[in-house]
Amino acid sequence: MAISSRNLHMLRLSLRLRPIGTRGFASHSSEPISFSVPPEFKTRTPPYAALLTRLEKVREILNRPLTLAEKVLYSHVVDVEEAFAGKNGHIRGETYLKLNPDRVAMQDASAQMALLQFMTCGMDSTAVPASIHCDHLIVGHEGAKKDLQASIAVNSEVFDFLRSCALKYGIQFWGPGSGIIHQIVLENFSVPGLMMLGTDSHTPNAGGLGAIAIGVGGADAVDALTGTPWELKAPRILGVKLTGQLNGWSAPKDVITHLAGKLTVRGGTGYIIEYFGDGVQSLSCTGMATICNMGAEVGATTSTFPYTDSMKRYLVATRREPIADAASAVNNIHGYLRADVGAEYDEVIEINLSELEPHINGPFTPDLSTPLSQFAEAVEKNGWPSKLSAGLIGSCTNSSYQDMSRVASIVRQAKEKGIKPKVPFFITPGSEQIRATIENDGFTDSFLDAGAKVLANACGPCIGQWARDDETMGKQNAILTSFNRNFRARNDGNPATMNFLTSPEIVTAMIYSGDMKFNPLKDKLIDADGNEYLLEPPQGDELPQSGFKQGDLGYLPAIDPLPVPTAEVVVSPASDRLALLEPFEPFEGKELKMNVLLKVKGKCTTDHISAAGAWLKYKGHLENISNNTLIGAMNEETGEVNKAYDFDGTGYGIPELMIKWKSEGRPWAVLAEHNYGEGSAREHAALSPRFLGGRMILCKSFARIHETNLKKQGILPLTFANEADYDLVNGCATIETLDLLQMLNNNEAGSGVITLKVTNQDGSEHIIKAKHTMSKDQIEFFNAGSAINHIGNLRRQRQGLEQHI
Ligand code: SF4
Repeated sequence: MAISSRNLHMLRLSLRLRPIGTRGFASHSSEPISFSVPPEFKTRTPPYAALLTRLEKVREILNRPLTLAEKVLYSHVVDVEEAFAGKNGHIRGETYLKLNPDRVAMQDASAQMALLQFMTCGMDSTAVPASIHCDHLIVGHEGAKKDLQASIAVNSEVFDFLRSCALKYGIQFWGPGSGIIHQIVLENFSVPGLMMLGTDSHTPNAGGLGAIAIGVGGADAVDALTGTPWELKAPRILGVKLTGQLNGWSAPKDVITHLAGKLTVRGGTGYIIEYFGDGVQSLSCTGMATICNMGAEVGATTSTFPYTDSMKRYLVATRREPIADAASAVNNIHGYLRADVGAEYDEVIEINLSELEPHINGPFTPDLSTPLSQFAEAVEKNGWPSKLSAGLIGSCTNSSYQDMSRVASIVRQAKEKGIKPKVPFFITPGSEQIRATIENDGFTDSFLDAGAKVLANACGPCIGQWARDDETMGKQNAILTSFNRNFRARNDGNPATMNFLTSPEIVTAMIYSGDMKFNPLKDKLIDADGNEYLLEPPQGDELPQSGFKQGDLGYLPAIDPLPVPTAEVVVSPASDRLALLEPFEPFEGKELKMNVLLKVKGKCTTDHISAAGAWLKYKGHLENISNNTLIGAMNEETGEVNKAYDFDGTGYGIPELMIKWKSEGRPWAVLAEHNYGEGSAREHAALSPRFLGGRMILCKSFARIHETNLKKQGILPLTFANEADYDLVNGCATIETLDLLQMLNNNEAGSGVITLKVTNQDGSEHIIKAKHTMSKDQIEFFNAGSAINHIGNLRRQRQGLEQHI
């Protein structure tokens, strides 16, 4: 059958796919609005003209002032009519948006699975510009040079695989030592008005430069990489009004550590946090990035800031002046990069920066926020260790030039007084550019002179890749970091390490005291002559006066690498770290019947579901990494961690029982409590349960990214309609869906209720209701077996039709 080009075009629209082999920013208009940039900046500049044109259509339908986040997000919607017409303005929190992100960034641990999935789709190149960053697999131990050499030796097969994928598909490859994903994105790719996806939960860091940047799993990244619209329920908008100006010891970090205390780890779920108010103009671009970065700790979809002079200064300082000019023009002429006058937020929180004091958050959760003036009392009251065991600064969150220069001012003060840190001090530069610049400006010498250890430009201790030498393993101890996340065992693998988060300035002041109750605003240190003195508040420069140094140019990839289709992807069949993927089976078309393998008690983050640390090395080998599935979870019925019981009462490690039940052909479900899957956007936390035979997660509530990840892998995520029903179901109980087929066949997308029949081992039966949030596309994923299966099916259909033309 011959198909006309018009029909093919209509089919493409219905499949929502870009033509194979084409690449470019999402663009749907040739309107003569021009914000041109030189060719070498083109793929790093959002298609402002097209975005403005689309935004006009959005305005025509919604007919109300829009917030900044709405403008950027809605102007990336694939089909404005479909998304917004006939909804009577019920968009936020209700409407699913199909979006065309402009760019994708992937870190080495999550990129492996994203690329293994992308490979199954059979494309020659990615549909949008993308980058790979080798940062998570580098261990922090002896210092940058040795650590880097050792980590490259241990991880070479993974780096070779990633490099070969980058070459084949035309993806930028930032090798080990080049820096941490979010710092490199900020320095190179984030731009006001950009929409990007990143396979890491701290991708929102790019919001410091006015982007809408969202952390996703690898399967979501594959949507963007294949040009398949990426779906997101339109978030609500939480406005944070900043007034006043930071001063003294307070830093941008305190905005978000304070806010985390107000919102808790769940308070931002379903929201974009949009900052506004006079106080915004006083913040540095990198300070705003820190604030956006840690928006992930309150569960926010992302965070963003309106365009400021400091963003312009940062763009110019990072050699992107033409992009700064284009952003200034699009904002000055059209007001695109700020909220409309009269735009309404779903909620507003106000923070007066002039009154904000430093905060310390933790241990074990980023929302346990204590103002510095009350921290000594909290240490006493809670029985936290009174001695500090180590201080760590840097990471993707706080390694800006401004952070480092303020820290250097404290270190220099201490040197003048003849004192040294009382505990080990570690510094992680966020990128080669930061490393080279702080070395050039003498900060590194000051740090080394103080006895600090400068680690590689990589994640290291922030993600459990910290080989500690100080014999604290297994012992209770307290560390202070300027990192962003502090779940138990996150840094050194020791569950007894109490990890507190604060600004780099406060970490640095505290290491000179070594006392957890020290408050540099009022407590004095003793100098080398035995005299008491008070540290002066830190001083620093927003940007280097003599400019950023790029350091080792060998790290810089081509700006627009072309795909090399003949390149071979390097995967050894004998590898225990990489394995090509087999597609999951499609849905069998009948009601599900499964058994409860585990009832999880309490907090269950993606760290509990798919532990990092030593397991990171198996990210590209689904079978091997699945041996870590839920090993951190607590069994509600026995209080044991990593213990599940078979029908005859025999106890197993949780993944062991999953493997046993899989081999017996017994599908299973896991029950859990609130915010299941909070924390890092860890795709394996969905892939591994699916691989081991999991069919359903039933809990009191989900973390957004993880719920989406489950849907993408063909697992049914449900929440109890009545939370108390959690108590009705016991381990090994049989759960049957009674009307799943009705929901799937009638395409009852959006939200709805599914009825479950529960039969406990003691014979007691219960009919309970559970809620789903499956969209139409997600129903397709479930039917196909996974999102990747669905995309592959669509692509094969299209190729078949194109061959008939
Ligand atoms: Fe790396 Fe930590 Fe940043 Fe994640 S949060 S990207 S692990 S430095």
